[in-house]
Amino acid sequence: MFDHPSFDQHESVHLFEDQASGLRAIIAIHSTALGPAAGGCRMWNYANGEQALRDALRLSQGMSFKNAMAGLPLGGGKAVIWGDPKTGKSTSMFEAFGRAVESLNGSYYTAEDVGIDTSDMATVATQTKYVAGLEAGQAASGDPSPITALGVYRGIKACAVRAFGSSDLSGRTIAVQGVGSVGGYLCDHLAEEGARIVVTDIDQATLDDVVARTGARKVAIDEIYDVDADIFSPNALGAIINDATLSRMKAKVIAGGANNQLASKEMGQALRDRNILYAPDYVINGGGIINVAAEISGEYSREWVMSKLDVLISTLGDVLDDALSSGKPTNEVADQVARQRIAAAQPR
Ligand code: NAD
Repeated sequence: MFDHPSFDQHESVHLFEDQASGLRAIIAIHSTALGPAAGGCRMWNYANGEQALRDALRLSQGMSFKNAMAGLPLGGGKAVIWGDPKTGKSTSMFEAFGRAVESLNGSYYTAEDVGIDTSDMATVATQTKYVAGLEAGQAASGDPSPITALGVYRGIKACAVRAFGSSDLSGRTIAVQGVGSVGGYLCDHLAEEGARIVVTDIDQATLDDVVARTGARKVAIDEIYDVDADIFSPNALGAIINDATLSRMKAKVIAGGANNQLASKEMGQALRDRNILYAPDYVINGGGIINVAAEISGEYSREWVMSKLDVLISTLGDVLDDALSSGKPTNEVADQVARQRIAAAQPR
């Protein structure tokens, strides 16, 4: 474990197996320096246990950084359940997972992630109170996507000021990859401001709905990289910034809600070399976790969420300014700030 390439001084890593229900899960706690570790639970049909471990280690570290940059009193953790989310779910499995979360005594809060939905989390919540992202209940925060999208929209404007000298998006061409929850709400904001929107999505019905609503122009899946856009906004998949796509992109700004946009950390330098201003994904998409944090606090307040979003956008601005003045890639500056914030909170 200590020699694993994705191990990053994680505080603890827990393996759970429940033979009766077939649950096999890993909960990785990267850091609780800033508060209880929070991060979603992913269910995925991993090829082997090593891949599940790798995901848990990497994603929990990512949550530490995201929570730190959002200025939340939360550390970073992540759970992975090894199994097929289409065929492998059962009530007893999510009950067993709930008991696993409960056994950590509040050092880890779970929520939905890929492969998990609100009804699964409702089952988990029968066994533990350390769950967020619920649809019902006293502090339930519901769907975080509108807040994530608002943060992405404001983050795009923060990038536009620095790249074009104005935050005004009217008349600017913005290529939006993926118009699901986050991308769809984002397009509404962009349309309201009079931006020229170009969209793509693998789901035709979702795509047509957004086109009808916003007047966006649709292009084929792969064509989105060739659009003559000012801004490229990824809101679907990870690893879409790579050598192959970068050589095709004409945008001066890349800013979107998708997680893990860079195929490798080195792509940050490649973006810098091409004079493309990149909004680090885990900073610009922090609106969702702010919404979840409001629920964990026990009392959901829209005012608190909005004030945290203001701070998030100003932190993003600081990261961009620091990168522009120092010549460093924006992702490296963000990682450095996140690490400093976590280190500063360590008990002495
Ligand atoms: P979603 O599933 O609602 O939307 C994703 C959309 O991308 C879907 O419409 C899907 O059809 C489309 N898509 C999939 N593959 C595509 C492809 N190859 N090309 C174009 N479109 C494709 O998910 P979401 O909640 O909107 O999240 C989008 C991204 O933002 C994900 O990476 C997610 O991890 C990240 N994110 C979401 C939130 C949130 O609050 N929902 C918060 C932080 C980060």
